[in-house]
Amino acid sequence: MSFISKHKLVFLTTGYFVFLLYILAALLWWFIALNKQNNAMINLELSLLKKDDPSYITKHNAIMFEQRRKIAQYVGEGVIFFVLILAGAVIVYHATRKQLHLSQQQNNFMMAVTHELKTPIAVARLNLETLQKRKLDEEKKTKLISNTLYEANRLNSLCNNILLAAQLDGGSYHSSKQKVSLHDLIQKSVDEFRVYYPQRNIKAQLDNDIYILGEDLLLTMLLNNLLENAIKYSPRDKPIQIYLKEENDLAVLSVIDEGPGIPDEEKKKIFIKFYRIGDERTRTAKGTGLGLYLTKRIMEKHHGKIMVTDNQPTGSIFTATFRIS
Ligand code: ADP
Repeated sequence: MSFISKHKLVFLTTGYFVFLLYILAALLWWFIALNKQNNAMINLELSLLKKDDPSYITKHNAIMFEQRRKIAQYVGEGVIFFVLILAGAVIVYHATRKQLHLSQQQNNFMMAVTHELKTPIAVARLNLETLQKRKLDEEKKTKLISNTLYEANRLNSLCNNILLAAQLDGGSYHSSKQKVSLHDLIQKSVDEFRVYYPQRNIKAQLDNDIYILGEDLLLTMLLNNLLENAIKYSPRDKPIQIYLKEENDLAVLSVIDEGPGIPDEEKKKIFIKFYRIGDERTRTAKGTGLGLYLTKRIMEKHHGKIMVTDNQPTGSIFTATFRIS
């Protein structure tokens, strides 16, 4: 479901341009009408002049001068109004489009978030009920518990993302940076992911002794979002690689997957808040469109950069670069 249908949007946009054209046409019509009136006045004044009047030439010239002055005045005022109307129209057009776009994305976000919240809760509840009601063997018990833990973790990272986005946007987030070993931080996240996703091949090649000035919590969230995406958007049998290197006095972190990759025209957009590629109705991957927005904001907080490039032959490479402390 979209907030405003395409059909309605086309109708509103057409209406807007028709109205704008009407205003501009009215402006032109006023100019023509004023000019006509001016000419009629001049003709009247000229007809009242007496040809045998000794000052005829002087008066005639004065009338003609006045006519030119009035035309210049109308043109000047007309151009100013035209520019003002056009500038106003452009601003209104852009502001409205932006607002509509944001509302639509917020609507998509609400749908996604509701779904994202309901699924883990339903799964955890079902698992716990099964554990409570039935006598299960150890293997089944362990499976149900680890499945519940996985869902609880998903819920936790979703809540963290929403909370952090609200804090960063509202300006209530207070950073407290310290010296962080990127190697240790990444290794910890990778170890956790290996536990949650035992079936996935997560390869990590991390250089030691790379320190940056940063915040543990934010950096972990950044990494978790990148890793979650790599897992979510690539086939189960494909590996995920994580590299940490020092290059030209910068710490370079890369998360590489062998999924479908990201089309060039989407590479910038995926970092926009709530943005998700494709259509909310047909998409199967879970998500809220907050993850990459947060990674970008977190990189900004660390005076670093994040970018996405194509992996060969397929997939994406997310590269985050930080200043070494
Ligand atoms: P989401 O919650 O939808 O995963 P993100 O902000 O993390 O939100 O990502 C935005 C969009 O970018 C995703 O919906 C997905 O379409 C695309 N995307 C992100 N990471 C990858 C990836 N590794 N491979 C392919 N597409 C990706």
